[in-house]
Amino acid sequence: MNLSESQSTRLDVHAYVRECDLYLRRVMAFAGVTILTVILCFAVVLPFRDQIRDSLADRFGMPAAELAIGLTPTPALLVMFIGILWLQRTANRTPELNCPMCEKSIVGMKHLVVAAKCCPHCGVRILNDVE
Ligand SMILES: [Zn+2]
Repeated sequence: MNLSESQSTRLDVHAYVRECDLYLRRVMAFAGVTILTVILCFAVVLPFRDQIRDSLADRFGMPAAELAIGLTPTPALLVMFIGILWLQRTANRTPELNCPMCEKSIVGMKHLVVAAKCCPHCGVRILNDVE
């Protein structure tokens, strides 16, 4: 590998930091949406909890009705898992968030990668010098 090839396999520091920050903002946004979904689920179900439980108890029995009421925050879990999958796919498709040499994720290691300029997995230098 000559010098131009090694330079082309390195990431720009600013682009890497920008993508890591964007990824973190997306994580925080999905965490917020998940919490809002929990609140929304309880806000919708709690005022009608007794009616819903009685209606379900008549059809399926009290244990099933209590279980159904206990599943109130389930949509929030769905939102959270969809968010995790989307974030993972986005990170996998963003070149700045993966080592150009070993292709492993370096999104959660910003401070380590910026300080060492090397991939924590394979040890190869992956960041250009700051200009
Ligand atoms: Zn690597």
